[in-house]
Amino acid sequence: KALQVAIDGPASAGKSTVAKRVAHDFGYIYCDTGAMYRAITWKAMQSGVALDDDAALEALLAKTTIAFRAGEPEQRVYVDDVEVTQAIRQPDVTNNVSTVAAQATVREALTKRQREIAAAGGIVMDGRDIGSSVLPNAEVKIFLVASVEERAERRFKDNAEKGIHTPIDVLKEEIAVRDKKDSTRKISPLTQATDAIKVDTTSLSIDEVVARIDEIIKK
Ligand code: C5P
Repeated sequence: KALQVAIDGPASAGKSTVAKRVAHDFGYIYCDTGAMYRAITWKAMQSGVALDDDAALEALLAKTTIAFRAGEPEQRVYVDDVEVTQAIRQPDVTNNVSTVAAQATVREALTKRQREIAAAGGIVMDGRDIGSSVLPNAEVKIFLVASVEERAERRFKDNAEKGIHTPIDVLKEEIAVRDKKDSTRKISPLTQATDAIKVDTTSLSIDEVVARIDEIIKK
């Protein structure tokens, strides 16, 4: 049976790396919902739309296509056929995305798209509210966590590969601020679904995390 697998957790807990590998192991589709929030944030910033103007953002989203295409080492993301894979990972988008993600109608519209993508099953979807809100009936729900120190270190290494050199203390602060915004917003905040299995990745390798989730799915 082609299952729905939801992987949620705070920023930089390793969700996308792990989700992509798990999807590959089962021949499932991988959907990065954070990239969708980042994509509309990027477009709003390009278009001069205020990041807390829900109605204007909804109108913008209605005429925006967000598409994923296979790529290595990561999936490519396109907004209206412009490739934004790198652009949506830049600090300006990262530090503004939570504001956009707190807007009710934006969430409603993206949630609808996410449910359409996941409808047939055979999918690993990562985000903040997948198990709790987008796919409440997902057969497998994982909640990935790691200490903020560990997450800042991982982000620091990721950044270094991209030529970004934000100090680790600043990253720690940015991660903490984003988690706070994501978990205190009114609509579908970052939260562990009651039936999700928590996996703490602080002292686990990527291989170990993937193996553990693969086991859970096979059960
Ligand atoms: O996972 P990633 O760090 O790329 O997510 C970027 C942001 O998108 C999060 O900080 C959060 O504000 C928002 N997001 C969300 N719901 C999701 C996925 C991401 O609100 N399902």
